Amino acid sequence: VPEPKTHVALLVSPGMGHLIPFLELADRLVLHHNLQTTLFVVNTDSSSAADALLLQKSSAVNIVPIRHSSPSLDPTVPVVDRIKAMMTASYPHVRSYIAAVEPRPVALIVDLFGTEAIAMAHELGMLGFVFMPTSAWFLSLFFFFPCMDKQMLDAHAYNHEPLRIPGCSSVRFEDTIDALEVSLEEVHEELRRVARELGMADGILANTWQDLEPTTLKALNEAGTLSNGKVNKVPIYPIGPLARRGEPNLESEVLSWLDRQPDESVIHISFGSGGTLCAEQITELAWGLELSQQRFVWVIRPPAGTDPMGAFFTVETESTEKTPTEYLPEGFLKRTEEVGLVVPMWGPQAEILRHRSVRGFVTHCGWNSSIESMVNGVAMVTWPLYAEQKMNAVMLTEEVGVAVRGRAEGVVGRAEIERWVRRIMVDEEGRGIRERVKAVKNSGEKAVCKGGSSYNSLAHVASECHRRRAEGV
Ligand code: UDP
Repeated sequence: VPEPKTHVALLVSPGMGHLIPFLELADRLVLHHNLQTTLFVVNTDSSSAADALLLQKSSAVNIVPIRHSSPSLDPTVPVVDRIKAMMTASYPHVRSYIAAVEPRPVALIVDLFGTEAIAMAHELGMLGFVFMPTSAWFLSLFFFFPCMDKQMLDAHAYNHEPLRIPGCSSVRFEDTIDALEVSLEEVHEELRRVARELGMADGILANTWQDLEPTTLKALNEAGTLSNGKVNKVPIYPIGPLARRGEPNLESEVLSWLDRQPDESVIHISFGSGGTLCAEQITELAWGLELSQQRFVWVIRPPAGTDPMGAFFTVETESTEKTPTEYLPEGFLKRTEEVGLVVPMWGPQAEILRHRSVRGFVTHCGWNSSIESMVNGVAMVTWPLYAEQKMNAVMLTEEVGVAVRGRAEGVVGRAEIERWVRRIMVDEEGRGIRERVKAVKNSGEKAVCKGGSSYNSLAHVASECHRRRAEGV
């Protein structure tokens, strides 16, 4: 009987944007670092996309679903609060599973919504890590939160002054995260709690890499030496880019359509797992695409609300019955049938972005989408909607240089959209961006190859786990 492998548990909060990178991480730990993994997936019982993804996976990862049909699913409760309630309800299940399973997991890896469980991991004699499927810049907000006083936060929220993060780029008010648009004591208390819990972790893994964010990573790694001593020394492990490669043999209408298009001729449009637009914005986007005369694949959802940024789509709250013909401009589908494809609700994004015919991506800048675009050398138009997406858009346009700055505020008109799309796809003006994204793709590949910076970072985490096991939990 072979010796059982060192066992690591991962706990992921609800949402495809969380599940996808956690599955990749679990896979990588198994395939490259000789570990055995159990992934606890906290989920509602209505997420069919999540189920499909889990079913597709190989058996390399042991998946333990934790289903909820609790009152916290009330659609009037904000998404973030629902996620938190589900996480809190999951901890007893995770604890009893871990206590009973053989071999005992030696480490627990949680996400930003699961930092409370770090203490539980330590009680159980395990290492506790946090995996942030986000940029290091976003992580720096939490990391340095204990050094930000009320005056600084008020100046940001009320006087719209930039938030200065030691050693990192400042966050302009117009690019800030939703939570910091107002200065509310309860929000600050919550952020302080998360910052405290991050400070207890044995390490923080981030889906980024050394060459993508050298300055921010340096600041984070040196943070322990800050003179005010409020920041704990927690090792930061950049382990990315961690992106879904896509199923090589997936059959789908979109992919066969893409097979029939010339190389690098198509722009993909999608707003993540939850993004929706209002009716007026859908109309403008449709016209903008048509006017640009570029080939496109558009993953489209029915209009939601009147807010230009739409609303977070959730299976529980929205009807999926409406077909695109009912809400797209009259004749749009007919006029664009030779050059475009509209995919209702959900498309195989990883497979689309890696397709040879795709050159550009209009994206809401969710971090997974941003990473998937970069690892495939696909240039972007940024269209941030919520959460930390405006920060991601700034990074992609101003620091990394792989995107055209798209939507900032409000409803965007067709002429502007046409211009952005043409810039990223064909105009001379976009050439630098198109070249830069290919270079970034190469740098990401190098980072995760054996001996690369991210590979070594994750190997370090794995060796801590093997060591903990040798010491006995
Ligand atoms: N995704 C997909 N098909 C879709 C929409 C999204 O496969 O139609 C995947 C996408 O590839 C990415 C994830 O869902 O891996 C979305 O994560 P991201 O961080 O970009 O945004 P979020 O959904 O968290 O806002």
